Amino acid sequence: MKYERLEKGEKPVLAICYDFDRTLSPGDMQAQGFIQSVGEDVNEFWRQSNELAEKNDMDMNLAYMLTMVKKARGKFYVTKKALSEYGAKIKLYDGVEDWFGRINSYGGERGIAVEHYIISSGLKEMIEGTAIARHFKKIYASSFLFDEYGTPEWPAQTINYTNKTQFLFRIEKGCLNINDHAGVNEYIPPEKIRVPLRNIVYLGDSDTDIPCMKLVNSYGGHSIGVYDGKSGDRQKVYRLLKHNRIRYFAAADYTEGGEIDLLVKEIIDKTAAFEKLEARHVENLIETRKNI
Ligand SMILES: [Mg+2]
Repeated sequence: MKYERLEKGEKPVLAICYDFDRTLSPGDMQAQGFIQSVGEDVNEFWRQSNELAEKNDMDMNLAYMLTMVKKARGKFYVTKKALSEYGAKIKLYDGVEDWFGRINSYGGERGIAVEHYIISSGLKEMIEGTAIARHFKKIYASSFLFDEYGTPEWPAQTINYTNKTQFLFRIEKGCLNINDHAGVNEYIPPEKIRVPLRNIVYLGDSDTDIPCMKLVNSYGGHSIGVYDGKSGDRQKVYRLLKHNRIRYFAAADYTEGGEIDLLVKEIIDKTAAFEKLEARHVENLIETRKNI
């Protein structure tokens, strides 16, 4: 099977990768309509789902996916369309809806191609129903395999903790297809890497984001921890910063002139300046190789 691979182009790429729940949206996506529709109390739904995982040594995401399917039985069909409609109801943090256009033009004016990616343990089918879905180059999230009746037959993907990091390597090397195993492990000389980890921004809020945050941070990228501005509780981000998982933290507010807006624009400015120097270095490197 031949998979499409993106190669390094003229403009440096800055990839902004987002967790979803509590990073772009104030709550868990399942608890913004779906759990209520199956007639379950939100806390009780998670209690049962986590208990299922505990008792069976089962992955917690596989457990919530099964719990969703079981709870909906006899009430409604969990089709792709139904999940997408629940997705359309998901609340987003302030400024998220016009964030993408704003940041893309800021990057564009400075010679930087900004790309956006979701890396979430939530459900792909729901994220695809949100108003912002079209802004993402790729949505990596847990998902179902649907049968001929359009209902879930099996999980297709489940994404959490360390397996979130594989998507950073996919983005780095431009092999975005999840089945392109050869591509993600292939050696690419540093000067040919499409999105070096230093040009990756990772935004997340919690423990499942730690491996990605740490990886991005270790290679000179930019990990940002977000906290809910309404509760104002910063304990989690303080811990993430203390342990070198993130470099910055900010309230999850994406409005123009806000902290995240200014921070990401500063990252774009830095990237534009650094990549100019890097291009000069690569030019010299290529000339040296030809003549030695
Ligand atoms: Mg989260």
